[in-house]
Amino acid sequence: PAAVVATGVTKVYGRGDAAVHALRGVDVRFGTGAFTAIMGPSGSGKSTLMHCLAGLDSVTEGEVRIGDTDITRLGDKRLTLLRRERVGFIFQAFNLLPTLTAEQNIRLPLDIAGRQADQELFDMVIRTVGLGDRLKHRPSQLSGGQQQRVAVARALVGKPQVIFADEPTGNLDSRSGAEVLSFLRTSVRELGQTIVMVTHDPVAASYADRVVFLRDGLLVTELARPTPQNVL
Ligand code: ADP
Repeated sequence: PAAVVATGVTKVYGRGDAAVHALRGVDVRFGTGAFTAIMGPSGSGKSTLMHCLAGLDSVTEGEVRIGDTDITRLGDKRLTLLRRERVGFIFQAFNLLPTLTAEQNIRLPLDIAGRQADQELFDMVIRTVGLGDRLKHRPSQLSGGQQQRVAVARALVGKPQVIFADEPTGNLDSRSGAEVLSFLRTSVRELGQTIVMVTHDPVAASYADRVVFLRDGLLVTELARPTPQNVL
């Protein structure tokens, strides 16, 4: 079964002579438990597609389903609720709150949603994140790779069905990037979560099960067994 399905997704920014056709009818499915990377040249529509899939941006035409819900038909309030309950985000800039400890940052989305942490899941994520005594440290006391692992852990503990990651290793050196991607892949496998990651980095993409390529707002090809070499 698919966790996310986009059908005929079109996105036009602006109108008239100034109109930019960022997406031109994208059809794509993301299977439950799959780790997919979205690649393509700059300006090809990767960020726009991810924002439309995650309900952060409206589509001009077409449908986006998360589970059995067509999110293009939800009002703002229900969309916010759905995002809170079913979707996790990981950004290039880690977006951690500087005054909170690593552990408090990881718990934050649960606190905001007024949800109790699933203790078993929480312990598993904390174990996997591998920060040990650094959990009581603030972000400024952690390396970039450690901060991003905190951000990944934060996305995981809410037990979202789908995690959207936008260049999650963009600010990391290759070793920290590898650490974060291994952690992400191991965790989603254990939890059966679906991940959709935008990246321009072939090494990052090689951690995915599948890579889809965008060009000029269209999905042009896909690759089932990515390696750092064959995604180039
Ligand atoms: P990518 O992530 O692949 O670099 P984007 O999705 O950011 O591509 O952009 C796709 C196209 O849409 C580009 O031509 C870009 O300039 C345009 N675009 C993106 N966001 C906006 C916006 N808010 N307003 C107008 N045009 C935009």
